Formats: sequence, structure tokens, C-alpha cells
Amino acid sequence: KQQKVESENIYDTQCPYCSMQCKMQLIEQRIVSRKKQKTIGKDNPTSQGRLCVKGMNAHQHALHQDRLKQPMRRIGDEFEPISWEEAYQLITEQFVNIQREDGKDALSVYGSASITNEEAYLLGKFARVALETKHIDYNGRLCMASAATAANLTFGIDRGFTNTLQEIPDTRCIILAGTNIAECQPTIMPYFEKAKENGAYIIAIDPRETRTTELADLHIKNIPGSDIAIANGILKILIDLDLIDHDFIAERTEDFTEVKKYIETINLDDVVKTTGVSLDSLYQTALVFSREPSGMIFTARGIEQQINGTETVRSFLNLLLATGKIGKEASGYGAITGQGNGQGAREHGQKADQLPGYRSIENVADRQYIANVWGIEEQQLPGKGVSAYEMFEKVIAGEITSMFVVCSNPIVSNPNANLIKKALKQLRFLVVSDLFLSETAKLADLVLPATSYLEDEGTVTNVEGRVMLREASYPIQGEAKHDWEILCDIAHQLGKGDYFDFSHAEEIFEELRIATKGGKADYSGITYEKLRQEQGVLWPCPSPDSTGTARLFEKNFAHKNGKAQMAVVPYQSIKNKPRLSKEYPLYLTTGRVMSHYLTGEQTRKSPSLAARDIEAFLEIHPHTAEKYGIEADSLVRVTSAKGWIIVRSRISKAIRKDTVFVPFHWTEKQNVNQLVSDELDPYCRMPGFKMSVVRLSPAN
Ligand code: SF4
Repeated sequence: KQQKVESENIYDTQCPYCSMQCKMQLIEQRIVSRKKQKTIGKDNPTSQGRLCVKGMNAHQHALHQDRLKQPMRRIGDEFEPISWEEAYQLITEQFVNIQREDGKDALSVYGSASITNEEAYLLGKFARVALETKHIDYNGRLCMASAATAANLTFGIDRGFTNTLQEIPDTRCIILAGTNIAECQPTIMPYFEKAKENGAYIIAIDPRETRTTELADLHIKNIPGSDIAIANGILKILIDLDLIDHDFIAERTEDFTEVKKYIETINLDDVVKTTGVSLDSLYQTALVFSREPSGMIFTARGIEQQINGTETVRSFLNLLLATGKIGKEASGYGAITGQGNGQGAREHGQKADQLPGYRSIENVADRQYIANVWGIEEQQLPGKGVSAYEMFEKVIAGEITSMFVVCSNPIVSNPNANLIKKALKQLRFLVVSDLFLSETAKLADLVLPATSYLEDEGTVTNVEGRVMLREASYPIQGEAKHDWEILCDIAHQLGKGDYFDFSHAEEIFEELRIATKGGKADYSGITYEKLRQEQGVLWPCPSPDSTGTARLFEKNFAHKNGKAQMAVVPYQSIKNKPRLSKEYPLYLTTGRVMSHYLTGEQTRKSPSLAARDIEAFLEIHPHTAEKYGIEADSLVRVTSAKGWIIVRSRISKAIRKDTVFVPFHWTEKQNVNQLVSDELDPYCRMPGFKMSVVRLSPAN
């Protein structure tokens, strides 16, 4: 018998998880005096009403009983609730004392790509104006930094997608390099499925068979970390067979001659040996990609999270430029961002080297412009800080003695968890603002309750560079506050209130518009009203009458001379790449599963998602399992030079015999990031999560 719905409320919002930023509605009904909730998709230009399993269950963590509802102060091993006034007083005392005793730069800020554009913007300003420290960076450094750097170096600008999602179904050839979109951004899949239906040839490069590679016509199941060699091998074939676009190269690119000179030295037999890929596959990719009239290349963490991630992405961008497949309809590049605001959060100044609008903190004109917007002298702006992981090294060195962590769980997401834990414990004062008492928050001196995607208003920039307005209005849980509100309150306490006089997210966005005007990521023509009317706007949007920019680089690239910069990318340029040895005879690669997100802090709280994948696992080929005495479904100790974890085996022919895979959403002795080297990409300072070397032993 159908039970009577006594009342119903509908709340609009956007998914808190991946970069698709699907629009959704929480429907809350009261039935027989009990509340019931469900989440459904809402139509919009990007996700078109679709949701994946994570989105459908997102309310389970946001409404979870473990949500932080009051500020809490550490007393010994326990936390005790305190008022916001007491929390702010404690922060002020500690920050002032620490800066007096240890210097201005002893304070640091660790931000996030899961916060809104307004909050990312304000966090950069907060660090530099309220705290007057140079030390701010964020968790996107672990995630999208190499693709962003590669795009900036190659094109002169970094908007993850050069074309819209709507163009994907019309392209004729797609290379998916190191991306498992079917599990990581499931609602993007229909665009690729439509392309396939329309006859596109799809090539997937991945050491594992996944739900994404199932879609491919050709799966290149390569040795982890050999992606540059693949791209260079394909480019050699293109050049040898004269399948390149001479006019495009001459008119629109720089340095092809140097690239060609290097590529001519490559021996394809060596490429086959280095990559584990057949010559046929390389030829097939080169022939189809060059001969089809349109083509797109998409990259993600698989090739980006390498200690030469920037160069790896550049080697694939060389292919696009050599074939002239960019700046045209259904031809272009897409870096498939992982985090919800992976695009926007990297544009507005929470990176160590950056000011809003992609301005450089080292460029005098850029500094002067932002100083004017903020109402300070250019000399007052601190200089360049260090990257996310390097901030923890500075803690160990005693240079940073306090940290403010916003919406991030660095102890689980960084490599070398032992160093991160030691650093966090060594801090004189650690403040964490989050939804839950995360693994990082458990080490804090003070924990602040922040609002969730159900309660927050602000803009988020999705995977294609579309700025979208999230207008959430669910009642705030307990005494939680918006992160931007917390920043403004602390700034007032520190006597910097005049610079942080905001009472609504839209007011911050109005300042962000001015700060980004004339910058590379120009939001100055975007207003909340326009976002409501257009259901999102693709930047750059430099004037009130602009409706945004759907396709980039149709006439010029963003470098001063208007040309794209090709790059010589030697495969062996990184000396400290992990190599197989007797001690560590297997490659380890890491990634996601569909039901979890990042460090799992939110998704592990959702019963429906946790039940799908309750623990980490080790994907291992049956041949490899037999060789190392690993039984099906048994506990395995995985050891690298950095540490060890214990995870359960999952035997599968989907993975290469020389490689094992562990997803990264779990903590403590299941946290695979503990095994990853702390070597960083020299260009973008990102760790190489996607390739380590390990040994295995049964742990039962
Ligand atoms: Fe959409 Fe990504 Fe959320 Fe899934 S996780 S509903 S694909 S935004």
C-alpha cells in the first residue's frame, strides 16, 4: 500500500564529486512522520539530466550523523566543542604569536579543488593579504598540475577542454590516454558512446582493461610510465610516412624542426621494447588519427600523474599539432579533470606561483594589477611559495610551523604518508575546516565545521571550462559555516576586515570578475544573472555582451606570437623514474573505482557507496598471482621502497602480467599512496602516483 507523503521539499544543487558537476535535486519527503531523501538528475547542457551512482547517493554523506556541527578544540587526545568566538580567538592568538616568533611565512594554507571559485579566490587573497604569507598551495597540485602546465607551455593558456562536450559525438577518431572515464566521470560516457555510434575510431591507452577500454576499437595495454615513448613512436611514423599537416605546422606552430630532428633519432624497435606495445598498434593509431578528417585527444591522471607528467602530456599535444587537429570543429584536446572544481580552483590564485585569472605572482605587471584590485601596495604582496608536498618538507625543516587546511585530506592524498603525518604532528598549530573529522582533522588542534554542496552557493567551473552556478539552499547543519564566511571572519579578527567585507558569495564573484579581467582565465563578462539564464558560460568571457567561448584557438593560440609551442620530449629525460629490479619486480599503478571519490572521506560515509567497495584491493594477473603464491581473495603485503600496505587480492586477466593495481580511496594500511615515491615533476611539482615498483608476499 502506498504511504501518504505528508510534505515534500525540493532542493536544487550540483554534485560535489567529479568535474562533470551534474545538476541535481534533493527531494526530501516526510512519510509517516519520517524523512526520506532521494537525489535525481536535473537537465542542463553538460550532464543532460544524468547522474552516476556517486551523485545519486551524495546526500548520504551530506546528511550523515558524523557531520561536524560545531568548532572543536583539541584537549589532549580528545576534542571538546567550543563556540565560534572561542575558535576565532584561538586562531588569532596562535597566528599572531607564531608569526611574531617564527616569521610571516611560518603560516601556511593548504587549499582544495573541491571548493567554489569564490572560495578558491578568497583563499589566495586570505593567505596573501590577511596572513601575509607566501605559503599557499592546494590539492590540485597532486592531480591536474601537469596537464595545466603542459597546456600553458604549449598553447599559452590552460582551459582543460579546447572544445565543448557537444563536439565529441562528431569527431572521427579519439585517443583516450590514461583515462578511465567510465568509472571516474560516468556521465561523460554517452558523448563518447555517441561518437562510436557515429563511426568514430577509439584508441585507449591504459595498462589495464577497464569499462572505458571496452569502448575502444584498439586498446594499447602498455607498460606503466611508457606513454612518452608511445607518443614519440606515433609521431615518428607520422613523420616517416609524411602524414603530417605541413601548412598547419608552418603557420601555427613553433619548433617543429627541432622536434623532427629528435624524433628522427628514435628507433621503433626500441619503442616496442620500452612500451610493450606492438608496432602494428602504433601504425594503426598513426594511420587512423592522421587520415580521419577530425580527431581529439583526451588525457587524464594515468599519463599526467607521472614524475614527467608535464612532458608526457606535451608529447601527446605534439601529435595534435603535427596533424593540425586543434582549433577546428570536432578536433582538439581535453584534460579530463578529476575534482569537482578541478578547473576553476586552478585559475584563481590558490597556487603557490599564481594570482587570480592565471596571473603570475612573479610578473610585476600582474602583481601590480592584483594589488590594485585588493587595495594594497604591490610590495606588500608576498612572493612565490612552494608546492603542496614541498610545504610539508618545509614543516619538517622547521620553516613552516602552522597550517590552515581547507576541505582537504593531505595525509591520505600525498605520497609518503609517514612524512606528512610527522609534519602535521610537528606543527605548532593545525586548523582544519571540513565536513568530517577526517584523518587529517584528527591531528588538528582546532577543527571547523564547513557547509556541504547541499548548503553552499557559488560557482564551479566544470571539465569543459563552463562556469556553473550552484544555488544550494538546504538548511545548514548545526553551526557549520561556508568556507568563505570563515575566511572573512578570521580576516576581521586579524584586523584585515576591510579587505574581506563580503556578506554573500555573489559579492566575492563580483570582485573575482575584476581580478580576472584581462587575465588568461577572463571571467569579467560573467554575472550570476547570466549564469542563470545561460545555464553556465564557457570562459574566456571578457565583456558583458560576450556569451563565452565554445572553441579555443580557431585563429590564434594564446602565446604572444599566436603560435603553439611544440616540444622535444625525450623519453629518458627523467633519471629517477622507478625501475624494476630483483627487489621490486612489479609495476604498481593506482586509480579510482566508480563508487568512491578522492580519499574516500565523503563516499566511505555513504552506506550505499561503501557497500559497493568496502575495502581496497590488489588487481593482479593470474599468472603473476601464481608466480608469487598469491591466492584469490587473500591478503597481500605490497612493499615499495617507501613502505608497505596490506590489501586483498582480486585476480583478473584485465591487467598486465608485470603490473598490479590498487585504488587509492582508503586509509592507514590500505592507503596505496604510502608506496609512492616523493620524486616530483620538475615543471609542475606533481608526484608520480601512477608508477611505482613493488614486491608482493602473502600476508595471511
Ligand atoms: Fe555526475 Fe561526477 Fe557526480 Fe557522477 S560523480 S553524478 S558523473 S558529477
